[in-house]
Amino acid sequence: MSLAADELLAWYDRAQRDLPWRRRGVSAWQILVSEFMLQQTPVARVEPIWLDWVARWPTPSATAAASAADVLRAWGKLGYPRRAKRLHECATVIATEHGDVVPDDVETLLTLPGVGAYTARAVACFAYGKRVPVVDTNVRRVVARVVHGRADSPASVRDLADVEALLPDDDRAPRFSVAVMELGATVCTARSPRCGLCPLGSCAWRAAGFPPAAEPARRPQRYAGTDRQVRGRLLDVLRARAAPVPRADLDVVWLTDTVQRDRALLSLLTDGLVEQTADGRFALAGEGGAHLDPGAGPLD
Ligand code: SF4
Repeated sequence: MSLAADELLAWYDRAQRDLPWRRRGVSAWQILVSEFMLQQTPVARVEPIWLDWVARWPTPSATAAASAADVLRAWGKLGYPRRAKRLHECATVIATEHGDVVPDDVETLLTLPGVGAYTARAVACFAYGKRVPVVDTNVRRVVARVVHGRADSPASVRDLADVEALLPDDDRAPRFSVAVMELGATVCTARSPRCGLCPLGSCAWRAAGFPPAAEPARRPQRYAGTDRQVRGRLLDVLRARAAPVPRADLDVVWLTDTVQRDRALLSLLTDGLVEQTADGRFALAGEGGAHLDPGAGPLD
């Protein structure tokens, strides 16, 4: 079974969400920023941060000129803050090595810091209209259902070829890619697909009577009590302060498990998101002046 491009594109034209990074006049850099942010964070949380970000730093060189600490502050509560650091590094490389222009081919995009297989293809497709397969979890699930009659399928090396075979041969290909993604995000969702609203006349999974997945659905990752939560609390303290803070100001944010707290702080130092001053205080990257090597055991 195939995936009917005409049905899908007619639906996308009337049902697509008005997301700011899809509007006319948005640059390739701004689309790349959205893809970094959307990697692990839902649209609703990304939208306000992205709008502020591109208004403040509309180009790679503007982003590269910002301090690492300001970039971490602007990242706010999007989570997984290593992405902010990688985006800053990516901006620097584009500004210095690519004339402040985001490359338009997948191979060159893949050489940029923080740009993986998905992001490279998403930028080539959504920013430059290239006919390249773009596969995220939504696309993989829609293809598994419509074409293969399965509830979902795990990531596979065949995914790209699988999706490329479905792309229209003409200039509709980029819109087709974003439309499949949109269908997976808004209609053909993982837990409760809204088949009554589906524009597709043929779907192998529906035709087979919705056979259950062989593997039970993965539970969403919990956040409360994880090292991620502790890292977020520690960063909140440093984001709010313009000057380095004493260790006690960080210790107080997580008193239930001091081993976990120390581990979280050490990981922030190791990731280069936080640094320690020569007199033992802590600051966001770039705001600690001369800092110590985290491997040298500076936490006491
Ligand atoms: S019919 Fe249902 S399962 Fe099939 S693609 Fe549409 S929403 Fe998904």
